[in-house]
Amino acid sequence: MSADVNVVIVGGGLAGVACAKRLAGKPGMRVELIDRAGFQQFQPLLYQVATAELTSKDVRFDLDRLFRHHPSVNVRKDDVTAIDPGAMTVTLASGDTLTADHLVLAAGAQPNFFETPGAREHAFPLYSVEDALRVRGRVLTVFQDVAANPALVDEGALNFVIVGGGPTGVETSGALAELVHDVMPGVHHDVPCAEAQIILVDGGPTLLSAFSHESGDYAARQLKHRGVLLHLGTRVQEVTPESVTLADGTVIKTRLVVWGGGEKAADIAAASGLTAGHGGRIQVEPDLSVAGHPHVYAIGDVANIPYGDEAALPQLGSVAQQSGRWVADNIVAQSRGEAPQPFHYRDKGIMAMIGTKAAVAEIGPHRHEIHGRFAFAAWLGVHLELLSDMGSKIHSYVTWAEEFYLRPNHRSAKLLDPTRIDTPAINWDEDS
Ligand SMILES: Cc1cc2nc3c(=O)[nH]c(=O)nc-3n(C[C@H](O)[C@H](O)[C@H](O)COP(=O)(O)OP(=O)(O)OC[C@H]3O[C@@H](n4cnc5c(N)ncnc54)[C@H](O)[C@@H]3O)c2cc1C
Repeated sequence: MSADVNVVIVGGGLAGVACAKRLAGKPGMRVELIDRAGFQQFQPLLYQVATAELTSKDVRFDLDRLFRHHPSVNVRKDDVTAIDPGAMTVTLASGDTLTADHLVLAAGAQPNFFETPGAREHAFPLYSVEDALRVRGRVLTVFQDVAANPALVDEGALNFVIVGGGPTGVETSGALAELVHDVMPGVHHDVPCAEAQIILVDGGPTLLSAFSHESGDYAARQLKHRGVLLHLGTRVQEVTPESVTLADGTVIKTRLVVWGGGEKAADIAAASGLTAGHGGRIQVEPDLSVAGHPHVYAIGDVANIPYGDEAALPQLGSVAQQSGRWVADNIVAQSRGEAPQPFHYRDKGIMAMIGTKAAVAEIGPHRHEIHGRFAFAAWLGVHLELLSDMGSKIHSYVTWAEEFYLRPNHRSAKLLDPTRIDTPAINWDEDS
């Protein structure tokens, strides 16, 4: 290889980091890794931050630090405002324009509110560390306010609504139920915690629709066992500052609606002008390049990746990580004059952690179904692999995960202190 090959990666999440790590140290490869946050947010554990299990630092990985030993990777904390796939340029909010030999779009996803009135303004999504801290701050503030004024229970203060019966909604409901029913009574003796209600709402008839019926039923049983109320088969019609209205006419008074109801591609996907598929995701070829642009790739959650009989692979950490590594190899191949290869995905299965001693997993392409501690072991294995790109903390995660699975009611006092989070006060007189 003679001259340097310039690779610009937009997004430092699981996909972008995996790609940059694979290219780091490859002779002749120079990488610009651009991320607006400057750190990677490990989304699979955000609900643990939201429910005071983990600190924000546990799920946030500084990109500069991650690549400090890789001089061929330059990390830029900046916002990509425009992409020109024809000219192979990327424009940054700071005003710089970068030109690439290979462009990798790995900008991830964002919540999809499906134009539900009030949802964008009043619901709490769970897609970033900031979102998770907002949820935790709101839960803790509600308890603090009820301790000062128990009459707020009649205003729905202790009703927590989770929208979405997929893995995010199921995991969040389970963890929140354990927080409010098992942990909070020991913190706020003056709050009637037994009156707290976690209500999970989904438009479909079952939970975990991507899983088998048996797994969905198992999740439902486990959540009910933890006191979660399931409101299935009806969609959210409107969210206001103090209530949720469902399509069947039910009105639930609440001050916290967690939105796990769907996602769509990051805004930059539409701005790139590239062909979009389902959820606004960039449509890619089997080798992960964009049709007509052999040096432009899209990976992870921002991409619609066709695979075998499936119209697209699901938005999963393993898909993001593996597609990132695959594209790095394709770029190296192209720079040697070789043809890029179709993506081969090693299916790790799908899984969800429902709560203490309750997890569900469907492993491998044949979706072998397991529950309980075997599913927990599978969950842990997959998450440790995802975390392997993030550096050294593997041992502490194993310890934490075992604690969480076996003895979840331990919380650090710091994580239960609302004053440590910058949370806006709740206006209890609000009238929408
Ligand atoms: C709550 C939640 C729980 C999940 N749980 C699991 C799980 O248990 N198991 C599993 O396998 N998967 C899980 N997932 C899915 C998994 O986290 C994603 O598939 C994966 O993170 C996608 O990686 P990515 O790199 O494509 O996107 P992301 O990780 O979202 O990274 C995208 C990056 O791009 C940056 N960015 C976006 N736009 C711009 C721009 N214009 N300029 C600069 N930077 C930009 C963002 O700052 C971000 O860092 C979960 C997702 C969520 C939301």
